[in-house]
Amino acid sequence: MNISKNKVVTIDYSLHNETGELLDSSEGGEPLVYLHGNENIIPGLEKFLEGKTTGDSISCTVPAAEAYGERDESLVFKVSKKDFGDNVEVAPGMQFEAHGEEGVQIVTVVGVNGDEVTIDANHPLAGENLHFDVKVVDVRDATEEEIEHCHVHMDGEDGCCDDDCDCADCEDGCSDGCCD
Ligand code: ZN
Repeated sequence: MNISKNKVVTIDYSLHNETGELLDSSEGGEPLVYLHGNENIIPGLEKFLEGKTTGDSISCTVPAAEAYGERDESLVFKVSKKDFGDNVEVAPGMQFEAHGEEGVQIVTVVGVNGDEVTIDANHPLAGENLHFDVKVVDVRDATEEEIEHCHVHMDGEDGCCDDDCDCADCEDGCSDGCCD
């Protein structure tokens, strides 16, 4: 079966940045299972996987614009240390989750100067061209429910109503009680 929209695809992968540093890998863990064509994974990687089939291996470089986007310097800004709450040690390199208009974002502390904290709300991989080595392990048809929710439901796991997926279809699906 070939990979196309609304197929459930299982891949083993490793991800390196341009300098060859390993950023992420499924080796030694679970392979990645996603619903193709539903923005479950970065768009640039979906393009390379389109039409591939079980057993295929690909090596590809996804440009930043089709991965986590280019860096946006307007997302680097100063906040007050008080915003972090009392008893929180704020230090450069610290990462935390912020809930914004576009869902959960990872924000990195890049500098601390007295009460002034400089934070960077760019995705940690923004501006990076990413190199993927991928092996297609399995391709199957999605169930109607998976297509409706735009994500994969794993057997016996709460793959449903995944926090990462906030598309309208998914929210509608979840209001049907799939989260119970
Ligand atoms: Zn669901």
